[in-house]
Amino acid sequence: MNAARRWVRECRSLCVLTGAGVSAESGVPTFRGPEGLWKRRDPMSLATPEAFAEDPKEVWEWYQWRRRKIRGCVPNPGHSALAAVEREKPDFLLVTQNVDGLHRAAGSRRLAEIHGDIWVVRCTGCGRERTERDDFETLPPRCGSCGGLLRPGVVWFGEPLPPEASEAAVRMLTRCEVLIVAGTSAVVAPASGYAAVAKRRGARVIEVNPDETPVTGICDATFRGKSGELLPVLLG
Ligand code: NAD
Ligand code: ZN
Repeated sequence: MNAARRWVRECRSLCVLTGAGVSAESGVPTFRGPEGLWKRRDPMSLATPEAFAEDPKEVWEWYQWRRRKIRGCVPNPGHSALAAVEREKPDFLLVTQNVDGLHRAAGSRRLAEIHGDIWVVRCTGCGRERTERDDFETLPPRCGSCGGLLRPGVVWFGEPLPPEASEAAVRMLTRCEVLIVAGTSAVVAPASGYAAVAKRRGARVIEVNPDETPVTGICDATFRGKSGELLPVLLG
């Protein structure tokens, strides 16, 4: 742990990639854990444009269920440690695959939410977007302006990433000295390739995860355990 703490402390440019595991200790279920299952449906078959086109009501029922679970959740010490280290670094970017908003709630500002935000709704007709934290009475919800179908402001499997967030992430990978990969199974592209990009140009890569992942092999240091416990030590 000591060498990795020193890399983090001494670097000028730090990038962090987080996934669902970072929010697990806040009570937000990961997709691949047993708690993440809704009506025994595979999330991979619900979080797609095809599922939404076929049955928007069912996809919205699942999102409403997830939004209810996340609404009462608060950031954990892992989120807080990330918000604190940001304030110490001249060059920093937190790239998250999480859509729960907990990094922002913890105070992170230099943030690229590459999979969107579960609290945003977007009209599939006129494109208007807004933040809506409340439940919808009737599902699927419709746009107040044009009557079009509203969809969650998240990125589904097979959809492109929001260009601004993904370009910021890629630019950071070309210059960071250290990349921390925390709480992600590292199987969802393109974030799954980010560690290899940083590693190829000589960045130190550090993983925090209770389990081995496909990026473990290329890491300079790996810490097996919960991010809410390990990130405060690594970044402290
Ligand atoms: P994932 O569910 O595939 O993997 C979660 C990872 O977290 C696993 O590798 C697991 O070992 C690890 N983990 C579990 N508990 C942990 C803990 N306490 N500390 C650290 N690590 C822990 O999630 P993913 O890699 O983010 O990718 C799946 C997709 O699911 C993403 O696109 C994401 O947008 C979406 N998703 C988001 C949320 C959220 O916003 N919180 C929740 C579920 C899924
Ligand atoms: Zn509209």
